[in-house]
Amino acid sequence: MLKLAIAGAAGRMGCALIRAAGRVDGVTVTAAVERAGHPALGEDAGAVAGGADLGVALQSKIDGDGGGDFDLMLDFTTPAATMEHLAACRRLQRGMVIGTTGLGDDFDTAARDAAATLPLIVAANTSVGVNLCLALVETAAAALGARADVEIIEAHHRHKVDAPSGTALALGRAAAEALGVDLGADGVGVFARHGHTGPRPAGSIGFSSVRGGDIAGEHTALFIGDGERVEITHRATDRRLFADGAIKAAQWLAGKPPGIYTMRDVLGLGARGGR
Ligand code: NAD
Repeated sequence: MLKLAIAGAAGRMGCALIRAAGRVDGVTVTAAVERAGHPALGEDAGAVAGGADLGVALQSKIDGDGGGDFDLMLDFTTPAATMEHLAACRRLQRGMVIGTTGLGDDFDTAARDAAATLPLIVAANTSVGVNLCLALVETAAAALGARADVEIIEAHHRHKVDAPSGTALALGRAAAEALGVDLGADGVGVFARHGHTGPRPAGSIGFSSVRGGDIAGEHTALFIGDGERVEITHRATDRRLFADGAIKAAQWLAGKPPGIYTMRDVLGLGARGGR
């Protein structure tokens, strides 16, 4: 039985993960963490997720009294919380599936250090379809090259706090890598347009974000040429698919050697592509 700790257990994804774990044989939730002061602390994680009691109370520290009874942690929280949980998992020597988005350079450094002794999956999007889209975007960018302008459009629910989405950035990075440039270091990303912008810089990759209502997550990569346009679109209609993908990732990660892996490793979609 694979024992899972769920971080952010009372959040939208935390609850979806607890429900998803209940649908899969061979995995069980044995620990659940929430932020200090959260009103659901002490309550049963199963009940908080809208299901039957699991006999696991929400706690504020994963390595506090009686903590640490788990094999892997699934973390879909906030960048600051993910940093705390990474440090705790390093102390406890437990692997992690990290789905939090908006992570910064400090996370990349900490994750690289932790991955010397721990297996980690870092995935801005744990759905099978999005990871297939990443591979398709690479193929399209490599085939079309400078003949097409690349634009990424994403849409999410009104509660999302980071923009563009981690998945949009992953799609942009996939296109950039296939075009032989680095999205960050080469400064090719265009994240806002307003006023007199001048013409579109050649080789740039544009990002646009829509926020509203209950949109679970939509992404389109546009390859816009002269006389034709290729569009690669993914639409999530239920966050259950992210949770199912994360549980699949945890099962794949169990027993793997230390290192940083991606969903594309889990799904056998090729080695290229980061979070
Ligand atoms: P949410 O706000 O509903 O849930 C986050 C939870 O984390 C909250 O309950 C919050 O109280 C908790 N939290 C905050 N600090 C904590 C701490 N120190 N310790 C423990 N828990 C803490 O948000 P959400 O919609 O569930 O999304 C969470 C993250 O997952 C976001 O970064 C989002 O972009 C990302 N996400 C990733 C995927 C994917 O496929 N990888 C899919 C959906 C969402």
